[in-house]
Amino acid sequence: MHHFIYKDNELYCESVAIADIAKAVGTPFYLYSSATLTHHFNTFDKSFGELPHMTCFAVKACSNLAILRLFSTLGGGADIVSGGELYRSLKAGVDPRRIIYSGVGKTEEELRYGLVSGILMFNVESEQELEKLQKVAREQELVAPVSFRINPDVDPKTHAYISTGLAKNKFGIPVEQAEKVYLRARDMSHIKIMGVSCHIGSQLTEISPFTEALHKVKLFIKRLETHGIIIDYLDLGGGLGVRYQDEKPPHPQEYARALKKEMAGLECTLVLEPGRVIVSNAGILISQVLYTKKTETKNFIIVDAAMNDLARPSLYGAHHDILPVIRNTGKAAAGSLQIADVVGPICETGDFLARDRELPAFEQGDLMAVMSSGAYGFTMSSNYNSRPRAAEVLVKDDQFYVIRARENYETLIRDESIPDFLE
Ligand SMILES: *Cc1c(COP(=O)(O)O)cnc(C)c1O
Repeated sequence: MHHFIYKDNELYCESVAIADIAKAVGTPFYLYSSATLTHHFNTFDKSFGELPHMTCFAVKACSNLAILRLFSTLGGGADIVSGGELYRSLKAGVDPRRIIYSGVGKTEEELRYGLVSGILMFNVESEQELEKLQKVAREQELVAPVSFRINPDVDPKTHAYISTGLAKNKFGIPVEQAEKVYLRARDMSHIKIMGVSCHIGSQLTEISPFTEALHKVKLFIKRLETHGIIIDYLDLGGGLGVRYQDEKPPHPQEYARALKKEMAGLECTLVLEPGRVIVSNAGILISQVLYTKKTETKNFIIVDAAMNDLARPSLYGAHHDILPVIRNTGKAAAGSLQIADVVGPICETGDFLARDRELPAFEQGDLMAVMSSGAYGFTMSSNYNSRPRAAEVLVKDDQFYVIRARENYETLIRDESIPDFLE
């Protein structure tokens, strides 16, 4: 479900014609629907009903301040993976007591920042990180709330680059070693054990890996209880998939039902860290066709967005539906489908948004919508080829708001300097 719909063959975001936004802000730009974001967050969160739970949005999926603020007004927390994401979340008004800090490589400075900010807990991923946190907490005369991320060795059946819960992945602590780490943490002066966490991967389209992981975590929590270690939070991470093409991911309600069942007999609060499922199809990337080109073997549609704007096709071979902003229904258009590659201006063959795709006839100047780009879209963008990053726009009802200005040439070089010896 989303709010990007055609009215008289023209694509709208809620009640705003997308072509009008393009006229005002230029292209390319990311466009988000606040109604879709709200609907997805609420659907997910409410699926868990009365079960004590917390929905901590995975900031890395889409980290614009306005969007973080929107989720926090809906009662959401944040799952962060860096000091930068902590800074953003606090600036956006997220309650620190609803912030969870994940990631394998937190620096000492980042640990300190999280600690003094009063976040809910650190998901610690190694024994050395625990030692470092104890040291930082002692220096600050604070107690660090921790949960350990365990690696349950469950196959999430997703793309290899985004699978995180297999024994061979860099994430978490193997279950067999984790018990020892908990016992060690229990005896530390400045550490307070809060929970157990795991996150097995992203874009999962089946429920069974989640329930399998949850089951393993549950058994582990029972084992900790025999040592007198009581767990208040069970953090199952994120990872619920979405439909990009023909995937059939479970509905959040189905997912919640399965988890609630598995939670029976546990006293703890369930923590969820959804990213993609909340924002993916609440955002699209709008670009304009610069040129079209026919060669002996290919039709190319060259647009003004590129792999620096949306990395997913190049990085994972990901599929994003492509739609015209203005649907051409004239006689000439009927039956004029073509097989084409949609490519950007970047000097890499890997710079494409779609390959060998059946598309309506796009012409120079046409606007194109790259669908389901809200998750890992703008947040993965870069300045490669010295391309200023795209603008971000949020629609609410019949209004649109630029929530991140398009970068310009000045911002590109703002932090660079030429040393004296070159002057
Ligand atoms: C990336 C990540 C998430 C979010 O994953 P999605 O697939 O976007 O839901 C949640 N938790 C952790 C620890 C992550 O690294």
